[in-house]
Amino acid sequence: MEITNSGIILDTLKKYWGYGSFLSFQEKAIQSILDDNDTLTVLPTGGGKSICFQVPAVILPGTAVVISPLISLMKDQVDALKEVGIESECINSSQDRETNAAVAGRLRSGALKLLYISPEMLMTDYMQGMLKAIKVSFFAIDEAHCISHWGHDFRAEYRKLYLIKEIFPGMKIHAFTATATKEVQNDIIRELKLKDPHVYLGNVDRPNLIYRMNRKQGDGFDQIVEILGAHKKQAGIIYCLKRADVDSISANLNKAGFKSLPYHAGLTDEERKENQNKFSTEKTDIIVATIAFGMGIDRSNVRFIIHAAMPKSIEHYQQETGRAGRDGLPAYCYLYYSNRDMIIWEFIFGKSGASEMMYEKLKEMYAFCSIPQCRHAFLTTYFGQKFEVPGCKACDFCLQEIDSIDNAGDLARKILKGIIDVRERFGAEHVANILAGKVTDNITKWRHENLPSFASLASETKFAVRSMIDQLLAQRYLVRNGEYFTISLTEEGRKLLEGAADPLLTRPVEGKKKKQLEKKRSKAMEKEWGDIDTALFEALRALRLSLADKKHIPSYLVFTDKTLIDLSKKKPKTLEEMKDIFGIGETKLRQYGKIFLEAIKENGK
Ligand code: ADP
Ligand code: ZN
Repeated sequence: MEITNSGIILDTLKKYWGYGSFLSFQEKAIQSILDDNDTLTVLPTGGGKSICFQVPAVILPGTAVVISPLISLMKDQVDALKEVGIESECINSSQDRETNAAVAGRLRSGALKLLYISPEMLMTDYMQGMLKAIKVSFFAIDEAHCISHWGHDFRAEYRKLYLIKEIFPGMKIHAFTATATKEVQNDIIRELKLKDPHVYLGNVDRPNLIYRMNRKQGDGFDQIVEILGAHKKQAGIIYCLKRADVDSISANLNKAGFKSLPYHAGLTDEERKENQNKFSTEKTDIIVATIAFGMGIDRSNVRFIIHAAMPKSIEHYQQETGRAGRDGLPAYCYLYYSNRDMIIWEFIFGKSGASEMMYEKLKEMYAFCSIPQCRHAFLTTYFGQKFEVPGCKACDFCLQEIDSIDNAGDLARKILKGIIDVRERFGAEHVANILAGKVTDNITKWRHENLPSFASLASETKFAVRSMIDQLLAQRYLVRNGEYFTISLTEEGRKLLEGAADPLLTRPVEGKKKKQLEKKRSKAMEKEWGDIDTALFEALRALRLSLADKKHIPSYLVFTDKTLIDLSKKKPKTLEEMKDIFGIGETKLRQYGKIFLEAIKENGK
């Protein structure tokens, strides 16, 4: 069936979802499905993948079958569709028999526009028999990277999806993922046996994420508290390297007055489920987690991600920060790294027999943290795309929050000389003390206060010198050796010593400068939502939560923050005016229009 009228696509989007335009590649992906091609669509998290198959499912006759890896994801999507007035259901093991039987009845009667199931469910004779007896408009494979060993979430059951083309001859398949690597894309196309697929690759960049990299001071706890102070009443995830860190940080935050819940593989299934559920339904705003917390988190207003330690690869960093700002509003990603994180990862890798490639990825991650450069540009290039925005305005480097050093070469040479002074037999901490001119017990013991390099960088703080040594390690002018972590010069380091290499160095922002920076940041944050009536916003937020609780759904399914912001700005007085609000389609207008109009009348200034 060929539908070339793009008006109908836009009308559907407006009627059900209340959106006035498409995000990039959505229209192309939708048209391709309507044109009856197999399709692979790669869009970043928050890129609006679901609408790409939901719109055609509404337009085409029959029922679209969506394969989804997690029951919690299915349930959220089905609830979201019901909220906008689209007949859809899921059949899975978490629902009781009667519910599943009722859904099956509606499926047979042709009432459903979308059916969500797991790959295991699809492989049952029961399901295949049922689907053969109805008109299936197409198959959509959500989180399609689960099919690939190269992805982070490989699932064996996804490997059987090649059977779709055998069981349903001529059936069209549309795959969706956020994973941008070539290997994964090729795997998806091959495994699903897609025929001459149309492939749509969106930009990997997430312009609404603001990236900031910081060196960790001590265990980093005070830095985390500072950030939480700047994000009061907002939702965020704090990622830690180990379970023990999750437990201690979460407990200490609760003591410090920041309500938070832990999440890691050491908790029981029940505890994990409960904590995730509390986060999804806005009963808790802060989750402290290991990477085990991730897939299945659809809460759209996650405003910040804090990495309390450095992740082991840029791919992991991208995934974890990907959970922020799905609603397209600004969201903040703070990373706190230290040399210790690096050492801990290497220790873990050593125990688990990690491949050379993993060590290399770890080094790249460390370089990403410590080398001053545009973070958006770095990530985009890392994932194989061109970044053409000069000065992204959304990273610490482009916002000029980093204190780059002009005469980095001279400074670096002083550091290298210090290392040579101790015959490359001491660690970074000790060398930093020598250069900064600190007299420690160890320095007295070795009489290092008599070295030519002693206090040669006395104008810098010790923290700054230590940071610069780590930066030289990241840029591979230095290398750490053996069990005592002594540091020595590499080949490149010797070139640098002779003046034949150019390092990049930054100074951590401390003291007065730091205070000024914080002021500047909080001012920028206050303005980012534009001119809104904050009291009204909070009142609408409370109303949204109470409505969502009654229906047992997460509150962003009632209205997203973006809709509440639009309401608090425009303050519509009639249902007619409300139609122009972002994210209010016909069904939501009918369901919630009146009650929100009243709330605006009551609470708006
Ligand atoms: P993904 O699955 O790619 O991460 P989603 O499908 O969850 O993204 O969509 C992310 C957010 O963007 C959701 O809140 C969704 O409602 C919103 N969205 C999708 N399409 C549009 C659009 N055309 N205009 C505005 N918002 C959109
Ligand atoms: Zn930048």
